[in-house]
Amino acid sequence: MKTLKILTFLLMLPAAGAAWATEVNVVAAIPDLGVMAKRIGGDRIELTVLASGREDLHGVPARPSFIPKLHKADLLLTLGLDAEHAWLPALAAEARNARIMEDREGWIEVFEGVELEDVPEVISRAEGEQHAEGNPHINIGPQNGRVMAENIAYALMEFDPAGEDLYQANLDAYLAELEAMEASLRERGRRLRGHTVISYHADISYLARFYGFEVIGTLEPKPGIEPTARHLARLAKESRERGVCLVIYNQAQPAKLPEKFAKRVDAQAVMIGNMVGAVPGVETWRELQEYNLRVLLEGLDQVGCCPPIRSASTWTVGIS
Ligand SMILES: [Zn+2]
Repeated sequence: MKTLKILTFLLMLPAAGAAWATEVNVVAAIPDLGVMAKRIGGDRIELTVLASGREDLHGVPARPSFIPKLHKADLLLTLGLDAEHAWLPALAAEARNARIMEDREGWIEVFEGVELEDVPEVISRAEGEQHAEGNPHINIGPQNGRVMAENIAYALMEFDPAGEDLYQANLDAYLAELEAMEASLRERGRRLRGHTVISYHADISYLARFYGFEVIGTLEPKPGIEPTARHLARLAKESRERGVCLVIYNQAQPAKLPEKFAKRVDAQAVMIGNMVGAVPGVETWRELQEYNLRVLLEGLDQVGCCPPIRSASTWTVGIS
């Protein structure tokens, strides 16, 4: 009995320097960054994720419950490129934690090193555009996962050098997994190559680059600007001329408009996920990429889509 008591007592003791001791308080703006941080940081990090995954990346409701979480954060993981511009900087300022204010050492932007899409020649927010510095939806592109994961790992190593070996080992394993995932997705997504599509918001540029299809226009005239009848009429005409087969939107956008537009141009509307957690069953970043490929291919099947207008041999972008 005495032995059992001692054993129980020992099991209850916090193990100093144990592998599971929490060392870093991490807040992730969106679930994609959270699942990656957990994968790399394991039990050394305490994780809070702000966005639910079902929301619009640019319009996550600024819940008061975020403030205390941000107040004690060591690292705040963001996509960057002002993706979270409308809701996160003000919250971080409100949290009174100098470390994680925008442009401070704890505010981490994981886009650094990604090959950017849609970088404008002139940076302007004159009409309220949401993509003023380039396309921020890097998490939808399978090709960007490795850079995102590396940036998260390096931020953890810098803040918590004692955990470097663990972070590096977990990163190496994850990178190998992502590399294999990319090859597999590319192979299975070959049928998408050369097709023309429309998207609701300009959020699929990286996805299009990866699979080699072309986004010829968006239902929004500019990112974050409401569609107008005149813009949609022009887009419908171009869609018919260019043989558009998919109209792609995400779970945070109203389905009615893309569904209606797809019918108007004899295409198929497809709902992708814009973040981990977008739909039930998408709980890891790999599951998000698998889900998006599946619905895109199902969309092609449903519409019995026309052959690609460009031949695959002339379409080399993003194809290894
Ligand atoms: Zn956007």
